[in-house]
Amino acid sequence: MSASEHQAAEALARGELVLLPTETVYGLAADAGDARAVAAIFEAKGRPRFNPLIAHVADATEAEAIAVFDGPARRLAEAFWPGPLTIVAPVRDRERVCDLARAGLDSVAVRVPGHARARAVISAFGRPVVAPSANRSGRPSPTTFADAVEETGFAAAAAVDGGPCAVGVESTVVSVLDGRVAVLRPGAVTREEIEALIGPLDSGGEGHRSPGRMAVHYAPDSPVRINAEAAGEGEILLGFGPHVGDSRWSLSPTGDLREAAANLFRRFREADREKPAGIAVSPVPAEGLGEAINDRLRRAAGFVG
Ligand code: AMP
Ligand code: MG
Repeated sequence: MSASEHQAAEALARGELVLLPTETVYGLAADAGDARAVAAIFEAKGRPRFNPLIAHVADATEAEAIAVFDGPARRLAEAFWPGPLTIVAPVRDRERVCDLARAGLDSVAVRVPGHARARAVISAFGRPVVAPSANRSGRPSPTTFADAVEETGFAAAAAVDGGPCAVGVESTVVSVLDGRVAVLRPGAVTREEIEALIGPLDSGGEGHRSPGRMAVHYAPDSPVRINAEAAGEGEILLGFGPHVGDSRWSLSPTGDLREAAANLFRRFREADREKPAGIAVSPVPAEGLGEAINDRLRRAAGFVG
């Protein structure tokens, strides 16, 4: 049964964990300043402690209370919040986002989620909330209430049903350091959209680091084969575009990247239930949202190119 925003906020205040809907994927949430609650998230997910969490806040003012924003960070926040962009910036308040949540770093990752129910819970709670994807570490992120409950519902004192996630892939993580912006993780906001706002991105490297990115991640139980032209023996083919495989399994029969992103993790889970010899996935274009989709596909397949 779904908890109300008020019940969820009360659970957070008691140091308990909450399943939280966001527009990207469902999160497993806790008070970012409560090291015991944050430790329970790492425990429930089986997440390595060197992988820092994202602090979710209700608005940009709250974000600037915990992080130090420069000009480009403010422009990004203004353009893309509420929404699926995470900004990594120097930490200002080490209490409200505890050391464990930041994996001991001097920076903090922060975002204002686009989902109204997520913001309502955070507002009612009144402090930053860490909310990594509600899957057990390494598995596909849950994009429906039922999938979230199945993954880590055992660890949550309250679960808020926000319907299916509209976006379906995680936020884009950018680091903003000394006025330079670099993408640490491709996601729902595209590189093209960011560059249209602030000009060419930094290539990363010096200073811009993301400790938590794992080579194998987002993986269903069945082996994943990407850039497949057709289904092999016993495989289910997740097609992309018209007349590719069985349309019931298609990521998007019309070749729409938004639809493919929304379907990706759900199709992985549905296909797994059929216990196929493998999951084959058609080529997906690399541009726009395709960068994030291909990133998730490469990791699900077990190699990062
Ligand atoms: P998740 O919570 O699983 O969506 O992942 C959060 C992502 O943000 C991971 O890739 C982390 O490595 C990254 N991240 C969080 N905090 C920081 C930080 N302070 N510096 C760099 N990357 C971060
Ligand atoms: Mg995750």
